[in-house]
Amino acid sequence: KTFKELGICDQLVDACKTRGWLKPTRIQVEAIPLALEGKDLIGLAQTGSGKTGAFALPILQALLDSPQPFFACVLSPTRELAIQIAEQFSNLGSDIGVRCAVLVGGVDMVQQTLILAKQPHIVVGTPGRLVDHLSNTKGFSLRKLKYLVLDEADRLLNDDFEKAIDEILNVIPRERRTYLFSATMTKKVKKLQRACLRNPVKIEA
Ligand code: AMP
Repeated sequence: KTFKELGICDQLVDACKTRGWLKPTRIQVEAIPLALEGKDLIGLAQTGSGKTGAFALPILQALLDSPQPFFACVLSPTRELAIQIAEQFSNLGSDIGVRCAVLVGGVDMVQQTLILAKQPHIVVGTPGRLVDHLSNTKGFSLRKLKYLVLDEADRLLNDDFEKAIDEILNVIPRERRTYLFSATMTKKVKKLQRACLRNPVKIEA
């Protein structure tokens, strides 16, 4: 199958080509049509499977349809992963004017506040730093959020991020799409899944 056959629009198909993504990976073939139908997804997938593209492309396509700031939020367990995810969004979205912010610890809050003031479409972050900004940064809110992604959910829960995730869940709309990706399905992941997802479809890489 091609990206076009999965329902990806010409602009984003071009962006994939520019990056050298000529053919969707298996997880992308599974995820993209369901995501475009509006389903919540549970993806069992490892890094390297192309899982970031599997959620980034449908989110960018929805963003093209109705652009707005703070459209999507991706939670990542580590700073390195958050940066990689943001890079993929920025690369795929550069021709369509997508603005992306990375909110991770170890970087000056003030610098991140300046980036948030530019009203990014996509926010990628680690839960703790994201909550810091939600409590302290004027004008930053996720009240209009349309998409939430929980990436590497098993590791998100290992790292004592549970409280921060709860706080985030309390300030985002119930009416949204949620994608949860995890390498393993632990009890805690299943609990998170029940708390966050609505009639999810399970896919595997
Ligand atoms: P991920 O599993 O999302 O971390 O992606 C792993 C790597 O695969 C990244 O460097 C992506 O740029 C690359 N990638 C993702 N999708 C494709 C694709 N359809 N074709 C070629 N490379 C891809």
